[in-house]
Amino acid sequence: MINYRTLCLVIGINFSAFFAQSQNATFEVTLGGFDAEAEAAFNYATDQWSQYLISDVPIKVHANLVTLLPGQLGITFPNGEKNFVGAPFNDTWYASCLANAITGTELNPGYADMDIFINSTANWYFGTDGNTPAGQYDFVSTVMHEICHGLGFLSLSNKDVTTGSFGLIYATDFFPLVTSFPWPELDTLPSAMDHYLSNGSGTMLLTFENPSDALGDEFTSNNIFCISEKVLNAHGGEAGRIYAPSTFTLGSSMSHWNEGSYPVGNENEFMTPNAASGHSSQVPGPMTLALLEEIGWEIDYTIDINTTIQPDESPIIFPNPANENAVISNLPVNASWDVVSLDGRNVASGANNVIDCKDWARGIYIVRFISDRGAEIKSSKLVLN
Ligand SMILES: [Zn+2]
Repeated sequence: MINYRTLCLVIGINFSAFFAQSQNATFEVTLGGFDAEAEAAFNYATDQWSQYLISDVPIKVHANLVTLLPGQLGITFPNGEKNFVGAPFNDTWYASCLANAITGTELNPGYADMDIFINSTANWYFGTDGNTPAGQYDFVSTVMHEICHGLGFLSLSNKDVTTGSFGLIYATDFFPLVTSFPWPELDTLPSAMDHYLSNGSGTMLLTFENPSDALGDEFTSNNIFCISEKVLNAHGGEAGRIYAPSTFTLGSSMSHWNEGSYPVGNENEFMTPNAASGHSSQVPGPMTLALLEEIGWEIDYTIDINTTIQPDESPIIFPNPANENAVISNLPVNASWDVVSLDGRNVASGANNVIDCKDWARGIYIVRFISDRGAEIKSSKLVLN
């Protein structure tokens, strides 16, 4: 009888292991220079992220309150992994916590997944309620934003005078800040996010010679977009606009949504480069979550119905703006489309998934999607430049 019971117990354990579900991520936090109030706010921020992220491997965060340059709130260095088993793209840098989540194993034992430096001299509001008083900066919002970079929301672009590059960033670029983990030799390789960046003509930035002056021109063109399909779905079919101002700032340019396109109060303001005082932004927003999902994170969308992305099965055009071709995804079976100029001329029609627009005048067009019964399903703006 005893043996039988033992057998049942063993079977029970195996069954529960077999059916184990991936869980919301946990954080292991090591803090330097924090008082109790700052620590509580930091832990609140990691708790928020836990609710969005699925991972069986704890995310190891080192954070230090230090003096940064005036006007800087925080800076984050993700640890990186490449060419691990199951990596979505080869020869591409993934934040180590994302690589760990994808593989389900600890690839960087003993080393942090990200180092976060927060400016100790900023006028912080450490409350967690988001009611940030005028003149103060919301600590929780800033920590959540910085963690997002550590999750892989960043480009490995750099610009040296006129030459733009991917994967040519060195530890010395951030002196006197020093990471707790060995700085990887980036080897001119891009980040996962870099795979989704295009210029205004729909040319992917990773197709440019690296390094090159042409790439450098793009990084400061103020005309860079993220054309990940998940981001398009989360943004009404439009590409996400990337912050690419005429002066390149390492770590700011190319690694945020465009400030002007997603200003204070916009649902996608969370990952713009500048934080407003007297204001909080503690919800990642649809585009940011979609990009994290696109680069490999499993996202738990159940936390907050306001940020739930309904799967959009209606037709979507990308890239948009387009240059030579625009691709239609989610075109229903037997549906067709026609394209009309703003002055009402019919420019093209078809039923395939590619709109050849290279010979058209540059400008704005309306694409109408028609069901097999002749009813209009949706009309979308298509920009050519
Ligand atoms: Zn940032």
